[in-house]
Amino acid sequence: MSSTEPPAGEERFAAGDAQFVSTGALPDGRRIDELLDEALRRFRPEQAGVVADYIPALAAADPGLFGLSVAEAAGGRHSVGDALEPFSIQSISKAFVFALVCQELGSRRAAELVGVDNTGLPFDSVTAIELNDGSPMNPMVNAGALATTALVPGATSAAKWKAVQDGLSAFAGRPLHLDIPVYESEASTNLRNQSIARLLESYGRLAFDPLATTDVYTKQCSLAVTTEDLAVMGATLADGGVNPVTGRRVVDADVCQHVLAAMATSGLYERSGTWLYDIGLPGKSGVSGGILTIAPGKGGLATFSPPLDTAGNSVRGVLATTWLSRTLGLNLFASSDLHHSETP
Ligand code: GLN
Repeated sequence: MSSTEPPAGEERFAAGDAQFVSTGALPDGRRIDELLDEALRRFRPEQAGVVADYIPALAAADPGLFGLSVAEAAGGRHSVGDALEPFSIQSISKAFVFALVCQELGSRRAAELVGVDNTGLPFDSVTAIELNDGSPMNPMVNAGALATTALVPGATSAAKWKAVQDGLSAFAGRPLHLDIPVYESEASTNLRNQSIARLLESYGRLAFDPLATTDVYTKQCSLAVTTEDLAVMGATLADGGVNPVTGRRVVDADVCQHVLAAMATSGLYERSGTWLYDIGLPGKSGVSGGILTIAPGKGGLATFSPPLDTAGNSVRGVLATTWLSRTLGLNLFASSDLHHSETP
């Protein structure tokens, strides 16, 4: 089945059909603090990975930075290490711009236009587009993210950029600003993304001008955030679309559910299967060293550490998230034998 076809029988399900949720609760706040401290202590000594340098401004990042934050869907916030250090959001923005477009067009239409299947290939793959008849494949790789940004409401690039900046700021619960040196550095070196946008245009799969789309996309990737911001943004997706700090609804619950599914499929690029196998949660990484993980109904977990593995995922971030998913009890696939226990 091609990624643009709706699943068979989709028309048999109405939007108003009952939705039940299957989530539990986080440990108490003191325990969350202890586990974050312990994760920082355990994984800080890790030296593997290389800081991204294909965007020149990112190469200057301090490889020793390490911050961790949890924002609870219930509103509590917890941070350790360099959690107030700003960095550019990079690809983590893709999940939130996709949410804004799902909110506007509906999750089904957005999936038809952008796709929601994994490519198995790197985030900036041109081959993936050619192998799939011009489909952008999913919103978490550059092709799908560019196709998504082109769909953001607004007739001009300034209007689209405002919608993206305001929308991501609503997820964060505070105004997010552009990291101008990172933006200028990427804008002067992003020929590959411009080419991806042109290639999509040639397949009739880009809804806006390719260079203007690439520019808005580069700006969205250059928004400065901290792990505290990312955790709140994630907690909003974990909380049915209501920002737990501001109390403001940003998107509908249905949108969150579909964005989280797309993150689970493709958020860690060609390592998405391994990530889901080990961690069991939707996540999204970015080349500046951030990773955001969402435990639906419970909250958002954000990590920041610049050295990356070969797929572009933060090495300390993957380690800390793997450990915290287990110790905070977040893995969506974990169950225990409650019904056949020997004890009375
Ligand atoms: N702005 C970056 C790019 O398009 C984002 C990539 C990423 O974070 N993986 O190359």
